[in-house]
Amino acid sequence: RIAYVNGLYVPHAEAVVHVEDRGYQFADGVYEVCEVRGGHMVDERRHMERLVRSLNEIRIRQPMPLAALGVVLRETVRRNRVRNGFVYLQVTRGVARRDHYFPDPETPPSIVVTARAADPAKGEAVAAQGIAIITVPDNRWERVDIKTVGLLPNVLAKEAARQAGAREAWFVDRDGNVTEGGSTNAWIVTGDGKLVTRPAESGILRGITRTVMMEVAEKLQLRVEERAFTVKEALGAREAFVTSATNFATPVVRIDGQSIGDGKPGPVARALRENFHKVAEIAR
Ligand code: PLP
Repeated sequence: RIAYVNGLYVPHAEAVVHVEDRGYQFADGVYEVCEVRGGHMVDERRHMERLVRSLNEIRIRQPMPLAALGVVLRETVRRNRVRNGFVYLQVTRGVARRDHYFPDPETPPSIVVTARAADPAKGEAVAAQGIAIITVPDNRWERVDIKTVGLLPNVLAKEAARQAGAREAWFVDRDGNVTEGGSTNAWIVTGDGKLVTRPAESGILRGITRTVMMEVAEKLQLRVEERAFTVKEALGAREAFVTSATNFATPVVRIDGQSIGDGKPGPVARALRENFHKVAEIAR
């Protein structure tokens, strides 16, 4: 495997950043994960737009023009011979003596890109089964709209899920409303067939998959309601599911040990999953 690190393509095993990288010391950086399908990136434009937004929000300068970054992403995919899988991109505020204040503005941001293959059949098998999730208090900071590498609450929540025999954790705010998953957006389907997911402006990451799934839903003539929902409402929902670049739409069949609907993956999540790549942008 090959990784891109600050201008060089290097063997993955030797791909390192400096100990005084601000990503390492302060989680002072942002990232994107983009699906690769048939050797091409899915929704690259949207991921790049969100990257630029994340960089702007924390005032890291854009390390290179987007066209050049696109070349690096594609080259990393190509050199790793990834047909189906994911490409990961991380940009940090760079290497400087440890000090909380921003470093000298001349300090170049650090860029790392990796790509790896993933067997689509594995994801399909998980989706066919459906996943169990747990709920945990949302103890994150207020700026979860920024895709930062500061993911400790997410790491702890997902590990707690695994310890409980589940795959994902849904964060719950002080009012008992679900915000989102540790690495996914959260959705339910109501008794009358409406899709419900929390508004993107209210304490969640605006998932690219979430955005695209709204379009998929429209094509399928499903109604979508962007509003908060409680754990209680989710427990009584007809279906629940999660979305992300790595999960597309994956059905949730158990929440905190209780079955959702008939305890099997539902038709709405399945239809969204099956139609996702007809709507997602795949640049060739
Ligand atoms: N919410 C969180 C906290 C995430 O980390 C992610 C993806 O990693 C998502 C939602 C889903 O975003 P996307 O659909 O862009 O992958």
